[in-house]
This record gives sequence, C-alpha cells and structure tokens, in this order.
Amino acid sequence: MRVPVIELVDHPGATRALSHAAAVEEFGEESWGAADGAIRSDIDLDLHLDAVVDGILVRGRVGADLELPCSRCLVDQAVRVDSDVAELFVDPAKREEDDEEDPGYELIDDRTAIDLSVMVRDALLIDLPLRVLCREDCQGLCEECGTDRNQRDCGHRPDEAPDPRWAALADLDLPNE
Ligand SMILES: [Zn+2]
Ligand SMILES: [Zn+2]
Repeated sequence: MRVPVIELVDHPGATRALSHAAAVEEFGEESWGAADGAIRSDIDLDLHLDAVVDGILVRGRVGADLELPCSRCLVDQAVRVDSDVAELFVDPAKREEDDEEDPGYELIDDRTAIDLSVMVRDALLIDLPLRVLCREDCQGLCEECGTDRNQRDCGHRPDEAPDPRWAALADLDLPNE
C-alpha cells in the first residue's frame, strides 16, 4: 500500500495525518499468515506521518476485525485486533555510504513514497491472540467422537480419572460369576 510523501520529504517538522479504511487487497498478495482469510473488515489506519531529518516517522494505530476459531471447539469467533505502530522509513539520501546497518523500511520510488504493507501486516500479526476461546469454560470437542461438547453430552469422558469408588471395587478380587 503505497502512500505518496513528496510534500514531507526534505521538510523536517512537517506532518500529515492519514486516516483511512483500506481494503485487504491494498496490502498486496503476500500471505497474512495466521490471519490469512480471517480478516472480515477493512483495515483501519489511524496514522501520523512526521518528516524527520532521517526520513519519515510513521506512528499511530492499525486495526481490523477478524474471525478466528476457538482453540478448543473450533467455532469461529469475532476478534478485534488493534496495534500500535512507530516505524522510521529511512531516506536513502540521508544514509551514510558505509552504513552497514539493515535499513529496514525505506523511502521508495525515488524518495517520493512509502509502502505500508509490510509494516501493517507485521503489526497485526504480532498482536493476534495466541489462543482464542469462545468462553472461558468452553468444553471443546470430544477426543473420541468429535462432538462439540458445548452442544451435547456424548457420554465420553476421555480426561476423567476413573471414579475412586469404582477403582476400589476393581481392587477387590471378585470371583467371576
Ligand atoms: Zn469454544
Ligand atoms: Zn464423544
């Protein structure tokens, strides 16, 4: 997602707000990793572009609505992700010749634009919840038959230790028949 910054470059102190709801397609073809196919809204950008001596500082917030499966029962859940960002897009004209440091983000198109795609994708992916639960006490799927145990009790008890009273009975050496 390219943003022209011609009026900012070489004007340290200049600033511009960028508020935009961008369709997922605007961020290119690359995979969204764990969020691939799960984004259900435009991606909200609420950013400030500040011209600094070394380039353009982009800071603010990006957010999106997603649908991710509950880790236990796999039913899709609505999840909102909002991420704070603060990244410097380095002006290649301001870099030292012998600067070996990885520049990270850089101005492109002959110092006239920045591309926010990678920054936005990385910010949202870092803030994805590691585990989604539809509710704290979700019963999950039965390991035996796959039944959603929130919906129906299939009768299987894979996790339960045997009832100690029955265990005691099992210890009695009862004659068969
Ligand atoms: Zn669940
Ligand atoms: Zn079952």
